[in-house]
Amino acid sequence: MIYEDYYIFTPGPVKMSDEILEVGAKQTPYFRNCEFSDVTYACEKGLIEMVNAPEGSKVIFLTASGTAGMESVVMNLLTKDDNALVVHGGGFGGRFVDICDVHAVPHTDFKVKDTNLHDIEALAPKENYTSLIVNAHETSVGHLYDLDAMGAYAKKNDLLFIVDAISMLVTDPVDMQSSNIDVVIASSQKGLALPPGLTMVVLAPRALEKVQDVQSLYFNFKDYLRNGERGQTPYTPAVTIMLQLEARLNQIKRRGGVQQSIKRAKDIAEYFRAEIKGLPLKEYTPFMPNAMTTLTPTDGKSAMDIVNGLEDGYKVMVCPNGGAERDIIFRVSHMGDMTRAYTDVLIDALYDYYGMKRA
Ligand SMILES: *Cc1c(COP(=O)(O)O)cnc(C)c1O
Repeated sequence: MIYEDYYIFTPGPVKMSDEILEVGAKQTPYFRNCEFSDVTYACEKGLIEMVNAPEGSKVIFLTASGTAGMESVVMNLLTKDDNALVVHGGGFGGRFVDICDVHAVPHTDFKVKDTNLHDIEALAPKENYTSLIVNAHETSVGHLYDLDAMGAYAKKNDLLFIVDAISMLVTDPVDMQSSNIDVVIASSQKGLALPPGLTMVVLAPRALEKVQDVQSLYFNFKDYLRNGERGQTPYTPAVTIMLQLEARLNQIKRRGGVQQSIKRAKDIAEYFRAEIKGLPLKEYTPFMPNAMTTLTPTDGKSAMDIVNGLEDGYKVMVCPNGGAERDIIFRVSHMGDMTRAYTDVLIDALYDYYGMKRA
């Protein structure tokens, strides 16, 4: 079943704008030419601006899902001589731990709960680390970490600071310079509101210096950096998604820049949270991003039943959790082409589902 007429509040893929959809409907062009190199350069410039990357930063475009961005960063920047402190507050943090395991990178599985790590200085194990790795927004639970505090800690201890910003880019602030971030990992299908298939790695000069020779053909950053100089990638890129990315970056600019997009997402998130106050649902964490709201039923209802009820009764897609959290939480994304009016569809559906009147 293709849910094309559903209301979409899932944290990736997210609601895309008509303008971006139209780009996707066109014939994919040939790309080994100057015209496409210009698209790559424009995407690189736009992303660098968006995350305020320092002078001399480069972007690697990989045709793959976001996890490839995560894994390739560990492969290309860390070795068995490193020691990584990996923040693990949910499924995506756990994935970084698995990646370090697979690639034999020494690491500490830094399990965190009930903190956004503003207190990382006090909480971090007292070991000598070379790198700090975090998913800025731990999407499995909707928890946002304090990048400024983490960056200050990384700077003080001279750690390479690697940030997966996949699910908070465009909706929540990320500033490589002010937070001392060396690597930002982005992906097309979350905050950027494009189809899945493209992951982007922004490397600050400090990270570029660490790029090493790797045992991989496809995930060899040196090869991407070499080709990037002429606006190309070693292998066929997700050409159409690159064109959509160029259009999306222009759209963000036209709409007042990334700060304005962040403000819009914040407005939508706060509106949603205020409007559902009358329902037997509570926020799962005090450290919510603008990107998403994670909710727990307070009346004993199963979260999964609510997810299914919204889908079957109202064509509204929110996101269930699996495993032990199946009945405890569900997630509502505010990423993508959201408006208050679109969000009203979900709010009204929730009130109707509960048989309650919206105030
Ligand atoms: C979605 C997401 C990813 C990437 O997942 P893929 O399915 O590989 O695209 C990585 N990190 C975070 C925090 C995410 O939300």
